[in-house]
Amino acid sequence: MRKIFKGIHQFQTNYFTTHQELFERLSLGQHPRILFITCSDSRIDPNLLTQTEPGELFIIRNVGNIIPPYGATAGGEGAAIEYAIKALGIKHIIVCGHSHCGAVKGLLQVGNLSQQMPLVYDWLKYAEGTRQIIEENYQDYEGEDLLNAAIEENILTQIENLRTYPAVHAKLYKGELEIHAWVYKIETGGVYVYSAERCNIKAHHEDDSLETLEGRQTSNPNWNGNGKVGIVRSATK
Ligand SMILES: [Zn+2]
Repeated sequence: MRKIFKGIHQFQTNYFTTHQELFERLSLGQHPRILFITCSDSRIDPNLLTQTEPGELFIIRNVGNIIPPYGATAGGEGAAIEYAIKALGIKHIIVCGHSHCGAVKGLLQVGNLSQQMPLVYDWLKYAEGTRQIIEENYQDYEGEDLLNAAIEENILTQIENLRTYPAVHAKLYKGELEIHAWVYKIETGGVYVYSAERCNIKAHHEDDSLETLEGRQTSNPNWNGNGKVGIVRSATK
């Protein structure tokens, strides 16, 4: 904890004093335009990754960047989504998965979790759609390729869940909200931007031309190590 308290002292004496005007303005209210949904994983820092200031991102974090479908639970995710849209007038929602996600690893071996981590096991049922897509479509994948495919598919599953919220649905219908599907790769700092529409990612992976993906190929086509990534474009490279 010593490091944490030292950090607070440094924040107050350095960052805060040079940004005092910002914090005074923020004390009057928040006006973020982006809802950022990501994993609790300590290796992700949404503000660092997007180089945004306090007040710019409204953030939901949980194990596996999971959004339970509307009505499935009275959890905080639904409340945060509703508040973001109704009270804050959020215009963009980013669902950001990440490489080496422990939650998605757990999902691939979910049977082992029921005794060991029953709460995680229960939580992962909101990603069951991902597990079944993987089970039925990725039999020929293994190891890191399988995990990466599950990470990609899971952001699309969670976006489908997100669309079940009436507040989200209504704004999408009016064209006043955009949803973005991202995967952050910890080891390279790369951010991969996918089409948020449910598509057959696997088919894209196996498509040599990549022309179907809006004609754009990521400049770092090694996400799955096979040079055939089903990625629309890279946001950062
Ligand atoms: Zn994770």
